[in-house]
Amino acid sequence: MDKFTRLNHPPETELPPGNRPVVTPIYQSVKFEFDTVEETVRNWRGDAPGYNYQRSSNPNARQLELTLAQLQGRDDCLVTASGVGVLSSTLLSLVKQGDHVLCFVELYTPTRMLIRRLLGKFGVTHTLLSVTDLAGIERVLAGTPTRLVMFESPTNPMLRIADIAAITRLARAHGALTVMDNTLAGPHQHGQYDVDLYLHSLTKFAAGHGDVMGGAVIGGAELIAKMRPDFNALGNALDPHAAFLVQRGLKTYLLRYREESANAQRVAGFLATHPAVAAVHYPGLPSHPGHALARAQMSDFGAVLSFDLRGGAEAAARVAESLELFAMAASLGATDSLVLPSQLLGARDLDAGQRRLAGIGAGTARLSVGLESIDDLLADLAQALQRA
Ligand SMILES: *Cc1c(COP(=O)(O)O)cnc(C)c1O
Repeated sequence: MDKFTRLNHPPETELPPGNRPVVTPIYQSVKFEFDTVEETVRNWRGDAPGYNYQRSSNPNARQLELTLAQLQGRDDCLVTASGVGVLSSTLLSLVKQGDHVLCFVELYTPTRMLIRRLLGKFGVTHTLLSVTDLAGIERVLAGTPTRLVMFESPTNPMLRIADIAAITRLARAHGALTVMDNTLAGPHQHGQYDVDLYLHSLTKFAAGHGDVMGGAVIGGAELIAKMRPDFNALGNALDPHAAFLVQRGLKTYLLRYREESANAQRVAGFLATHPAVAAVHYPGLPSHPGHALARAQMSDFGAVLSFDLRGGAEAAARVAESLELFAMAASLGATDSLVLPSQLLGARDLDAGQRRLAGIGAGTARLSVGLESIDDLLADLAQALQRA
């Protein structure tokens, strides 16, 4: 064999029967082949198992899909290259011209932008409420045929708690699908409810180390099977190396989530007694208006919390700049702690009234609490709050 040919057809090193790697290797191959035309045709038509093209599926993405489906307690899952990627693919797959979507001022800003601006261009209408307004939700669902209800709990950044049982019951009664962005609670929580589809940014708690992006939609086999060809056409596929990193992150996911939640509970308790702080928003605090609901719905309250500084926007900026262990950066759910002051907390698409409804104040700051020693985190907060 000529050297050029050899370099492009290297020797195969298939494992002998019974010999296997303990960790699933990264299948860094766009294409997969079969020996015969018949086998290839059967696989391409979806009548035989196996892989053909990385965008449709690959072993690393598939392993991650099956792991996440089991963690959330559902049949199946599709993974994508980012959390926003799964939001856009899911919404585009589910709605058509003339459909109506019920959404909320508390939603992650890009989600609202997708529904209001992008889907709006294709004739999809929406109603915007507060996720805690159950009477409003019932009124809208009873009065307007609605394709889907898109909600979150806890919400980002104000940590409001949605009544999942009530929302899913109302949606079911009026023939609407429920799509829940479950990123903040994580894929081990909320599986006991009658939610049709759970969405996750895997970039956050699942991957957990701030070094890889991904998204997932988890649901019943029938609905996921219907969405699969649309996801393939939209081309948001998760790279096998990224899938491998998320899969590795999941090995410590439950430990990290619980430890970060415990640290966040301590931080929330500390902030609640500090004279510079007007209010703390954390579902684990008994004073939180959604605490009883959160206790009933969740086993862990999560690593994200926000608080309002008496000194307003200037104080929020000074605290964020003075913190040494909390990086001032987007994202959440990593092992290292993060802070964002009100100036950097989204919601730019909301008018003044809607922003008031969403509850983000001039002095609000959001924290994502990591795995640093709690004593170091509290000392850092204490020194930064002196500058508030
Ligand atoms: C971060 C986030 C997303 C988007 O995920 P990316 O992976 O950053 O694209 C979606 N929803 C929520 C609630 C998030 O916090």
